Amino acid sequence: MDLNGYHKLISNENSARKYLTKKCRKNGRRFCPRCQSQKLYKLSSGRRRCSKCKYTFHDFSGRWINHGRFSCIQWLSLIKLFELELSVRKMAEQMGLAYNTVYQAIRTIRCAILVHADDAVELMGGEIELDECYFGGRRKGNRGRGAAGKVPVFGILERNGKVQVSVVPNVTAHTLIGLTVKTVRRGSIIYTDKFRSYDSLMFCGYRHLKIDHGKRFSSGKVYINGLEGFWSWAKERLIKHHGVSKENFPLYLKELEFRYNHRNTDVFDLVAKYLCDLVPGLN
Ligand SMILES: [Zn+2]
Repeated sequence: MDLNGYHKLISNENSARKYLTKKCRKNGRRFCPRCQSQKLYKLSSGRRRCSKCKYTFHDFSGRWINHGRFSCIQWLSLIKLFELELSVRKMAEQMGLAYNTVYQAIRTIRCAILVHADDAVELMGGEIELDECYFGGRRKGNRGRGAAGKVPVFGILERNGKVQVSVVPNVTAHTLIGLTVKTVRRGSIIYTDKFRSYDSLMFCGYRHLKIDHGKRFSSGKVYINGLEGFWSWAKERLIKHHGVSKENFPLYLKELEFRYNHRNTDVFDLVAKYLCDLVPGLN
């Protein structure tokens, strides 16, 4: 969404609302957030009632966007500033809102992204890179014992495609291969370093090529620079949040995965769409 389009959308509350409510429909039609029925009738208050389950709701009932008391224009401004990667402090300044109010809104955006990322997408295939990385903590350390206090993250990257990053309890073969099998199509070529947890990949239907970190640049196609690039890109971005707590870390991690995977798409429109999704388990 460029600034011209954005200005048109926020020129009045009605156009902002129209843009958002459109994303709450299924094939252009309203539906009951509780039972999905499209048989509804309108109440004098403007709300709708489901003929089937009698649930009464308004445009944003049960959706992420219903969190907080923001106007549609404010939501669109929050999405725009999120798209531009402003810090919460700067967003609060720009919008004339309290830090905590904006923080909660951005958290809602992050939750919507996180839930969406968990949707089963199609399997990755072709040329794949696997690698683990440790986030947080002050001490520099290696895998295993040296990594105390840090959060291990496992990354799967499809060359010229998407990345999937997950916080993992440990980096044992059981954990890493388990996630790989769920995510990567059999028959794919997988590049890793020489970490032992990857040794059994070849028994799981993959073509496994190991690289030697010392000789990384001499082994032609056998490299994992794609994921290493992602790790440093992600770490650089996390710095601006000044230390993310362990419990919030998955939210930030999935935001980065989302930004990376949609680096060539209109993030504004996508975030708006996610915010208009029904919150799972709420209805
Ligand atoms: Zn219903």
